[in-house]
Amino acid sequence: MGARALAALPLLVLLAVPSFAQRLPTTVRPDHYDLTFAVDLARARFEGTETIHVQVDEPTTRVVLHAVEIEFHEATIGTGAARQKARVSLDQADQTATLTVPRTLARGPTEIRITYTGILNDALRGFYLSRAGGRRYAVTQLESTDARRAFPCFDEPAFKATFAVTLVVDRGDTAISNGTLLSDTPGPGAARHTLKFATSPKMSSYLVAMAVGDFQCVEGAADAVPIRVCATPDKKDLGYIALEAAQQILKFYNGYYAVKYPFGKLDVVAVPDFAAGAMENTAAIFFRETDLLADSKTASLSTRKNIASILAHEIAHQWFGDLVTMKWWDDLWLNEGFATWMANRPLAAWKPEWNVAVDEGLENQTALNLDSMKSTRPIRSIVKTPAQIEETFDAIAYEKGAAVLRMIESYVGAETFRKGVNVYLQKHAYGNATSEDFWTAIAATSGKPVDRIMPTFLNQPGFPLVEVSLACTGGRTRISLTQKRFFLDPALMKGAGSGGRWQVPLCVKTPNQAMATCHAMTDATDTLWIDGAPLLGSGQAGCAPWAFINAGAQGYFRTSYQPELIRALAPNVASALTAPERLSLAGDAWALVLAGRHTVADYMILASGFGKEPTSGVLSQITKRLGFIRDYLTTSATRPRYEAFTRTLLGPLFDDLGLAASIGDTDERRALRASLIGALGTTGNDPDVIASARATLDRALGGGEPLDPTAARAIVRVAAEHGDTALYEALSAAAERATSPEERYRYLYALADFKDPALVQRGLEYSLSADLRSQDAPKYLAGFLANPAGTRRAWTFVKQHWTELQPKIAISFGGVRIVEALGSFCDARSRDDVKTFFAANKLGSASQKVDQTIERINNCIDLREKQTPILARWLAGR
Ligand SMILES: [Zn+2]
Repeated sequence: MGARALAALPLLVLLAVPSFAQRLPTTVRPDHYDLTFAVDLARARFEGTETIHVQVDEPTTRVVLHAVEIEFHEATIGTGAARQKARVSLDQADQTATLTVPRTLARGPTEIRITYTGILNDALRGFYLSRAGGRRYAVTQLESTDARRAFPCFDEPAFKATFAVTLVVDRGDTAISNGTLLSDTPGPGAARHTLKFATSPKMSSYLVAMAVGDFQCVEGAADAVPIRVCATPDKKDLGYIALEAAQQILKFYNGYYAVKYPFGKLDVVAVPDFAAGAMENTAAIFFRETDLLADSKTASLSTRKNIASILAHEIAHQWFGDLVTMKWWDDLWLNEGFATWMANRPLAAWKPEWNVAVDEGLENQTALNLDSMKSTRPIRSIVKTPAQIEETFDAIAYEKGAAVLRMIESYVGAETFRKGVNVYLQKHAYGNATSEDFWTAIAATSGKPVDRIMPTFLNQPGFPLVEVSLACTGGRTRISLTQKRFFLDPALMKGAGSGGRWQVPLCVKTPNQAMATCHAMTDATDTLWIDGAPLLGSGQAGCAPWAFINAGAQGYFRTSYQPELIRALAPNVASALTAPERLSLAGDAWALVLAGRHTVADYMILASGFGKEPTSGVLSQITKRLGFIRDYLTTSATRPRYEAFTRTLLGPLFDDLGLAASIGDTDERRALRASLIGALGTTGNDPDVIASARATLDRALGGGEPLDPTAARAIVRVAAEHGDTALYEALSAAAERATSPEERYRYLYALADFKDPALVQRGLEYSLSADLRSQDAPKYLAGFLANPAGTRRAWTFVKQHWTELQPKIAISFGGVRIVEALGSFCDARSRDDVKTFFAANKLGSASQKVDQTIERINNCIDLREKQTPILARWLAGR
């Protein structure tokens, strides 16, 4: 599934049979499904006719299938004279249907035929109902375990089969599925027509897709593969940005992979109600509208990037996931880590100015942040129930999986890695694979011990902290390294010496070498020697004054340098380190503060060197942490000084850029400006920036000069944070009348930025309204919870309305989003309250997330207690 929108992501109460997911017996396997669905939008149901061609491997009288909310009419097994009626018994807890026949089924091929009725539900999973423009649509979202809601099936990824879908729909409606449309014939009856789709390739049941409604498409092609981007009729013209990106991306992948795009056509469909960001159904990718559709004339850089990036992720899945699928969900990273890693390749080639390497650095930080916790999990962990499967769609499967792949790619070399990837894909095409299959392929292709390195990152939780010190011996530089597991919790960090050992590929950069020296650290300690070559630029030989051991920023670890080394490196950061390396250095420095090894004063000294940071992705990470420090580590006494520090630090760069965009501004200049407006208007509390933001916004909302799209979100946030009722109402109205999803959500989500308690309350009340779609509610509410001015009130509201909000929170990834946002609490009483609440109101697919949130709050409490006085002293000393 598509990351971003998930990044945070799941509960069941609604559909709610707690399930214990029994694995199916392997005595009977499917080869092919013939599926016919007669869809009745008005009554929100469908009639299903199904024939499954199966192989019986061991003689038996019973066949177990998955099925949920399916009403069976008739089931038979066998062909011709041997066909016999089956008795059906349902197990709600296991989500299975057992078909039992009187006479034993012989080994060999046979057929299961079932007629049944299913429901088009409102829960955005299975075959479900979506609504827009006063009409209804029927669409599917079957990953991970919801194909069983659409048709009885062998709903596990290793039971691959081919699927032939037929849809009977209303006249005037169309339908999209995995295969190309083979025929469209009138009937049955005057009001219906029947669409038959080509048989799919061999694939897993979770990849079946159907969309029914009045969708319209814009059309293109890449390498003779027809590509369509489809939406509801009013939004059809918002598909051109996506179409262009999809063409570029497919072309790139056809050049990268030895196997060309194998599925004949590619449809990409924007669905009005969609729980995840997007879903990689084979040859029929489904999206939430805001992640696919945008106005070609006004779309911001971040919207263009987001569309291209999620498309690149889903199209990468056509190979990693659809063509080759993980054998079981414990290897989900083989799908999601791969798609996340791969997505950046076509973007970097197509749009070098997008600085994709910095985005990769940000992905690494996301993974490292989660993976620093005691409550993290290994990439490969045991999963059994649908709730556990859903919960593994996290930053460990996506961002950590991708980070490990980048590290290995960098270690063996990009071309060798590509060869290994192609060997793996060719060997397992139309089949299933495991982590072992992958590392075996890369180890064989590269001749390097990838099969020893990867298990250390896949099978154990967390990652190493590499401690670095330098010494000068006989004109040579000795670099001493030690590794231990990194923990956010200072107490665990102190005792962590014995826990975990990794084989760590790393690359060292010093001012003595023209090229970085790469190396795999295999033991707890290690020593590297750098010859006393001339210092770059000085012409003099000598020992290296500093070393940076994550050269290229491809390593999945954090680093702690001895203090002298940091002092020697600090003045050279801008000239000696690349943007991703600076991001890695600053990320490590902040993590060491959280873990109690450095002080916030150490971090402030480092951050002070980033005032003129020219890369927006790096600057925005720095300003985000400055905002956190203001929110949590300042007091009413120290805040004015802290705000003044922020203004002094960032003011000069902002003065260079100015508030208004010029026509010739590059995307990067615009993005830098947006970061600075956000930081100065909120963290810096800069009255000029605040006043200009409000004036600019009022003008735009009043029909005057429109906002620069790239800076718009920052301008709206700053204005809303300081905004009044008039602005609240203007934003509400603007969200209502917006024609593009970007504009709508820019204004809608800004309602969570107000500080005025009455407006916070008003915004919260809106979440109960039918106007706020379920797909948007978790993110909307999370915005209020994450706003320090609204956290307490929002949490009280969510608890009070918990039952009422269930249909909205219980969608996939809804609960996780809410729980994650509660990590903005920083006091013991709230922590205990959160803990008590979720002990009584269990969220099946967010149980790890609850532990992570509690740990996050504990860390914040500890940090605030220790670092608040240190920050006060640092500010006073300036
Ligand atoms: Zn995905």
